Amino acid sequence: MTINIILLGPPGAGKGTQARTLVEQRGLVQLSTGDMLRDARSSGTEMGRRVAEVMDKGQLVTDEIVIGLIREKLESGDAPGFIFDGFPRTLPQADALNDLLAGMGQSIDAVIEMRVDDAALVDRISGRFTCGNCGEVYHDTTRPTAAEGTCDVCGSTDLKRRADDNADALKTRLLEYYKKTSPLIGYYYATKQLQPVDGMADVAEVGRQVAAVMDGIGR
Ligand code: ADP
Ligand code: AMP
Repeated sequence: MTINIILLGPPGAGKGTQARTLVEQRGLVQLSTGDMLRDARSSGTEMGRRVAEVMDKGQLVTDEIVIGLIREKLESGDAPGFIFDGFPRTLPQADALNDLLAGMGQSIDAVIEMRVDDAALVDRISGRFTCGNCGEVYHDTTRPTAAEGTCDVCGSTDLKRRADDNADALKTRLLEYYKKTSPLIGYYYATKQLQPVDGMADVAEVGRQVAAVMDGIGR
């Protein structure tokens, strides 16, 4: 059975952190539009340059671009299921995703809403760093590396902070979230797909709540 889920929540809610566990434990494929756009920006193309400008300000990239990126990935092969991380972020993106999946005879099985207080998001975003080699996500205080400057998972010393993880961009990102993305909570509530989890709990406890949702799919 194919399982497709959406991780929905504000920037810093812990979507990427939980997505990595689901990839590892359940073999699902993570589709993060944020990661795809960061790849596009480092490609040095004209599109990459335009995308970088928008991302650094904390605004949303156009629906057309992100839907195109997702379409490409969905068409590029079979998977036991997808974790949509950071997509959809607008109602037109949600409609496009439904259409793309319907075209493959599939649908969304659950939308996991990660609930986190705004005040905690500032702290999470300002302490976040990631491994440039394997993508492991760390935090200065809640999840530091065991040895300073070295990734626990792959041993790389290429640890990075994101250009948009600063106070100014975060303000815009939160506004964009409330204006354009949070209406999706009502939308997926209405379609009976919404499954809230307590994103304020520690990473392991959030993982248990996410696992409980996953285990309940299809029952
Ligand atoms: P998102 O993908 O939703 O933007 P991330 O998974 O990148 O969020 O997490 C943002 C930051 O918060 C990272 O530094 C991560 O280590 C930390 N983090 C993630 N989940 C938790 C949690 N449950 N409790 C405390 N910190 C967390
Ligand atoms: P993220 O890695 O999910 O925090 O996304 C980083 C940035 O990429 C966002 O602030 C947006 O500029 C852009 N982005 C990522 N996903 C989307 C999306 N689904 N729609 C529009 N913009 C996106």
